[in-house]
Amino acid sequence: MAKEKLELVEVSPRDGLQNEPDIVSTENKLALIEHIIGAGFRRLEAGSFVNPKKVPQMADGDAVFAGAPKRDEVTLIALALNLRGVERALAAGAKEINYVFCASDGFSIRNNGGTVVETFAVWPEVTAAAKAGGARLSATISTAFGCPFDGEVPVARVVDVAEHCVAQDVFELALADTIGVAAPSDVHERVRAVKAAIPKQVQLRAHFHNTRNTALANAVAAIEEGVRVLDGSLAGIGGCPFAPGAAGNVPTEDLLYMFNRMGFDTGVDLDRAIDAAQFIGGVLGRKTPGMVSCAPKWPSA
Ligand code: ZN
Repeated sequence: MAKEKLELVEVSPRDGLQNEPDIVSTENKLALIEHIIGAGFRRLEAGSFVNPKKVPQMADGDAVFAGAPKRDEVTLIALALNLRGVERALAAGAKEINYVFCASDGFSIRNNGGTVVETFAVWPEVTAAAKAGGARLSATISTAFGCPFDGEVPVARVVDVAEHCVAQDVFELALADTIGVAAPSDVHERVRAVKAAIPKQVQLRAHFHNTRNTALANAVAAIEEGVRVLDGSLAGIGGCPFAPGAAGNVPTEDLLYMFNRMGFDTGVDLDRAIDAAQFIGGVLGRKTPGMVSCAPKWPSA
């Protein structure tokens, strides 16, 4: 029997690095991207087009997109938070743009420069610009499980934001636990509620942070709800400049080991993913949170 497919989207070049205080060179970012593609990932967040004064680590987005390999089967995702960012991403040659909304006003004001309602005003223009520029568009709902400023985020609020997102043409909608507060029960509840509210052709993606060590369990919960696209960050690096205390993303190689063994086909080579995780750990020069890359080898399936 053919194995069931699971897509792992590698976010280390963007979400993984954006909060690093020391600037990682464009050369090392490109080397990381080579490692990621070499391991078999076919979709990765290569950079963001946000205010370089606020997120200096991402200021070289143009150079990263210009220098990254152009391969038909590989999609480099550019993250944007406003129309200007979308225009810069298109100018850099991005073929896929991930546009971020927030589920909470406290985070939205700091991260996106306006309340949730205010940020939706430009959404029709953003989708039109992406379409005209030949890029496909996905939307992410950050703080979908909790906000560092507003606290608990009601499920109804997340559903409302999801409905606003899919009112325009997006091929995918991601639910993000930006600060790593979710438990599997939250994932079951929120994925189910959002799924019921959006058109079937919009695929769901989930994005977990491991701040409270629940990310792997949350990933399994998402899979149980039918999600087949998960974000991960090699070595478990990551954080958010606007989310105090948020720790790293779920380590991709840990997701990979687990889902390989559960019988999913991700198309990614575990040994090469571990090499990539060790490469970025070496660049950062410190011990990183991922566990599988520190463990003895074990047949994964
Ligand atoms: Zn994140």
